[in-house]
Amino acid sequence: MFRLSNLLKSVTDGKPARSLDGSIAIWNFTNRCNLSCMHCYSKADLEAVDTLQTKDILDTLPKLKQNGVKFIIFSGGEPLTRKDIFDIAAECKRLGIVTYLSTNGLYVRKGNAEKILDTFDYIGISIDGSEETHDHFRGLKGSFRESMEAVDLLNSYGRTKVGIRFTLTKETLPDLRFIFELAENHKIPKIYISHLVYSGRGLDNLAMDLDKEERLEAVNFILDKAFEYFESNRDIEVVTGNMEMDAILFYDRFAQKYPELAGEMWSRLVEWGGNSAGRKLLNIDSEGFVKPDPFFPLKVGNILGQDFTEIWSTAPTEVLEKLRIHPRQIGGKCHECRYLAICNGGSRSRAYAIYGDLWAEDPSCYLSEEQMRGV
Ligand code: SF4
Repeated sequence: MFRLSNLLKSVTDGKPARSLDGSIAIWNFTNRCNLSCMHCYSKADLEAVDTLQTKDILDTLPKLKQNGVKFIIFSGGEPLTRKDIFDIAAECKRLGIVTYLSTNGLYVRKGNAEKILDTFDYIGISIDGSEETHDHFRGLKGSFRESMEAVDLLNSYGRTKVGIRFTLTKETLPDLRFIFELAENHKIPKIYISHLVYSGRGLDNLAMDLDKEERLEAVNFILDKAFEYFESNRDIEVVTGNMEMDAILFYDRFAQKYPELAGEMWSRLVEWGGNSAGRKLLNIDSEGFVKPDPFFPLKVGNILGQDFTEIWSTAPTEVLEKLRIHPRQIGGKCHECRYLAICNGGSRSRAYAIYGDLWAEDPSCYLSEEQMRGV
């Protein structure tokens, strides 16, 4: 996750880096979902039956905490389909773990809105473009309207931050401007823009991914908006995900605008360190498998029958150990790239999906030879 608005603000304000002291776990508590989105890495559907029992989850939470997990992103499927979701979140709170809810918003109602706001520290609701685009992409007519009603309802209380999540594909790209206008018009405080990773239905529908020119156009537009919001003091945070090269385009633009702070920004970006799968990021899927990130093609253990501490800390697999070397030892153009310490070679899942090699270059990297070599 690349929090560009936060970085812009903290570096220009001369504030110390808010380094992530601990790890983030994305936990897919269920594979059940009331939508069937084209990019869904979990391939979730309405028929899925939960494998993990409440006890399995509650017993694992203290172990996550002991192993440095500070944040849990509640994901799925649709996490609100689980009846015990508030009990799980309450246990996280008791343990001092920060909770983020990632939802499609369709189960948010006036009757549970306050409970959701009181339970979670941040709520992200998926909106993948204008009404027509979103409904087609998410496979349900009327879903845009319902999801936006949830965003507006939750934000109307003025308590917990409620943002929107958008995935870039060929189908949604024309609506990128719309998403920013939506945030401006509805006073939505945060926009998270995710690039596609080739896993689940995202792999089945690979043809929907952007080509390099389209991606460059998208990222430049995102940067335009993030700098515009920053320079006009507009309180909309912009974050991108699953494309660590965005940090390099961001750095180039920052260095042009604020040359005196370029060195400081470079240090912050190296400290951030790019792709963090298996280092500061882990995933537990709906069957209890532990993975370095939610898209990862290989599993490193299972909380049903194995101790999490052993999986993560005391007996990590060779893959985990290799992922934890920073910068990673990546082949192809990453090997010669002067930005490797910032980007860390991007997504291992995309490399594996396209080349069948976990340690190959990220096929989606949009940097030109000149940019990566600096000649
Ligand atoms: S060439 Fe590799 S290390 Fe360099 S920016 Fe691209 S993905 Fe990152």
